[in-house]
Amino acid sequence: MSRIKLKKAPLSIVLALIIGILIAVTAFYLMSGQAEAPKRLTMIENNELRTGPEAAYPVIFEVQKGEQFAIIERRGKWFYVQGDDKIGWIAGWHTNLNIAKDQVVQQNPFKGRTVIVDPGHGGSDQGASSKSGTLEKEVTLKTGLMLRDKLKAEGARVIMTRDSDEYVKLKDRQGVADAFISIHSDALGESSPHGLTVYYYKDSQKPLADTLHLAIKNKTLLSDRGVRQENFQVIRQTKIPAVLLELGYISNPTDELMMTDKTDRQLVTTAIVDGLRNYFLY
Ligand SMILES: [Zn+2]
Repeated sequence: MSRIKLKKAPLSIVLALIIGILIAVTAFYLMSGQAEAPKRLTMIENNELRTGPEAAYPVIFEVQKGEQFAIIERRGKWFYVQGDDKIGWIAGWHTNLNIAKDQVVQQNPFKGRTVIVDPGHGGSDQGASSKSGTLEKEVTLKTGLMLRDKLKAEGARVIMTRDSDEYVKLKDRQGVADAFISIHSDALGESSPHGLTVYYYKDSQKPLADTLHLAIKNKTLLSDRGVRQENFQVIRQTKIPAVLLELGYISNPTDELMMTDKTDRQLVTTAIVDGLRNYFLY
């Protein structure tokens, strides 16, 4: 029976070994952690890409549940992502990346907000008219009243510049609020021009114009004539975010049909509410 005597290693060598192993393990985890930083993400609900890493930035693209994007950059809970034909910033909580939602987003964006709805023309000022006799002042009032009801249902306070067929001077179409929305219909001598135009005047009004434009363009049947800057009195005379919406051409038979159709009016007013919700989100 023989005993093998183990030579005792000095304590310092044992300690050095343990420390070395700890460093190696830590380095391994750090490196593998970097390798696991997500390169792609998948939308878990419909949402929008924005021009910057905050909900205050304008929306540039709608994205659908299931859409996948390559991640270019991360800033906080926001990701700069690129797809086949879309690029922009998305909040992580709309994606598969298991990012906690910011508390502020859970508040009702319409709570405590006031919106001025301005149905164009009225009374002796009938606005534009179609060959068949549709009057702009009637169309704008119907759309304005429907928009009022939907905004109220969302919890907003609504001020109407008129809620009946009355004449209101342009200088009286203003007030203190979080947004001012003037509703109009375009018209031209020829019948072919058609579609939506969103007007702003001051640079500070452009984010509201961009956000409403995208919502209306994507959610209604109106064709798109874009966002334009124009010196209209009702958007010039106010300090609050204000836009003037030309919701189609009353001189175009297809647009005229949409203006007089209740379902299309539902689409347009819902789209305006959706756009305002996005605008108010922060
Ligand atoms: Zn008008």
